[in-house]
Amino acid sequence: MDVVIIGAGPAGANLARLLAKRYSVMVIEARDIIHPAPYDPVRKACGGLLAPDAQRMLARLGLGIPKNVLVDPQVFGVNVIDMKQKITQNYQRFYFNIDREKFDRWLVSLIPPSVTILPKTQFVRYEKTDDGIKVYYRQHGLEKSVITRFLVGADGANSLVRRQLQPRFTPKRYIAIQEWVKSDSPSTTFGAIFDPQLTDFYGWVIPKDQALVLGIALKPGSDAQEKFATFKARLTNQGYRFGQRIRSEGAFIVRPSLKDVFAGKDTILLIGEAAGAISPSSAEGISYALKTSLMLSSALLEHENAVIRHYERSLWTIRLNILLKQLKSPFMYWPILRKFALKSGIKRL
Ligand SMILES: Cc1cc2nc3c(=O)[nH]c(=O)nc-3n(C[C@H](O)[C@H](O)[C@H](O)COP(=O)(O)OP(=O)(O)OC[C@H]3O[C@@H](n4cnc5c(N)ncnc54)[C@H](O)[C@@H]3O)c2cc1C
Repeated sequence: MDVVIIGAGPAGANLARLLAKRYSVMVIEARDIIHPAPYDPVRKACGGLLAPDAQRMLARLGLGIPKNVLVDPQVFGVNVIDMKQKITQNYQRFYFNIDREKFDRWLVSLIPPSVTILPKTQFVRYEKTDDGIKVYYRQHGLEKSVITRFLVGADGANSLVRRQLQPRFTPKRYIAIQEWVKSDSPSTTFGAIFDPQLTDFYGWVIPKDQALVLGIALKPGSDAQEKFATFKARLTNQGYRFGQRIRSEGAFIVRPSLKDVFAGKDTILLIGEAAGAISPSSAEGISYALKTSLMLSSALLEHENAVIRHYERSLWTIRLNILLKQLKSPFMYWPILRKFALKSGIKRL
């Protein structure tokens, strides 16, 4: 193989699509990402909102979203709730509301048939050999291996490729807990909830057809479930009506600083959240996944003999973007500045 990609989320699927014409590519994915419904119960926990940056990236890639990926209602309003200062404020922002599972499957469906996709397969470890990188994976209970020139970690916030590459370093991570509940009268806005007693990040409520998705990003700890219960109770006091629980899910979210953005080493490369590419202010990660996969594809297609150097160089835009988001963060996360931002016209920043 020329390129083995671990993970078929937005980063890995988009990279596989872009490289297929030139390279032999294999994608190893833990989820059952290609077989038709009923889907595998293992799903990627996500709010499923495509922010303007993600919309811009899809446009740049020449991709339009099929109708069956969209979910009612389309969201163009944010309802900010500041629990500490008891402020509520609405403002306009355009999102596409999507079914994340269908979105990922649609991106995978765009990968040309020349690419080998191994669903329900776990990447285990890699080893450098004289012939290239030996990638070990587990499929149907059997351990197998493949030799490749380039290994790409597109395996998300808990990237095993990154952990093997940087065993003593973990990017700053939060644990996100989400609950899907039935709702007869779902709201039509995206609720962004700031509650410093529970988290220095934020929580959200997103309408999805006849359901609501409520979630919160918390510092990892044993009291996460308790805090989630308090979060839900406080939202009920705010007037939200939650019906029967449909399912609960949890996942890590990286909240990067500049040192967490990492291109990889030699011929082992990282993209998407595995590379630390995600907004530290809003946890919006799909645009970054698409952007870094496009950057790495350019490095692989145009500079085959100096991929890491060119990819590393292109990541400056991601670092700059993260820096700008960090500069914006105090207006979202410092109570006094947030109050000022909400009461003034700069809230949309
Ligand atoms: C609760 C929650 C809500 C979010 N809401 C939003 C939102 O509304 N909008 C937004 O833009 N972003 C959101 N994000 C962030 C966004 O989901 C991620 O940043 C984005 O999915 C990153 O894409 P990726 O391709 O890098 O990684 P992922 O989408 O995480 O994909 C990684 C893939 O690798 C696979 N994988 C992992 N380990 C292995 C292994 N060992 N072997 C084989 N396969 C493996 C996984 O199954 C997965 O398919 C949210 C995140 C969370 C946790």
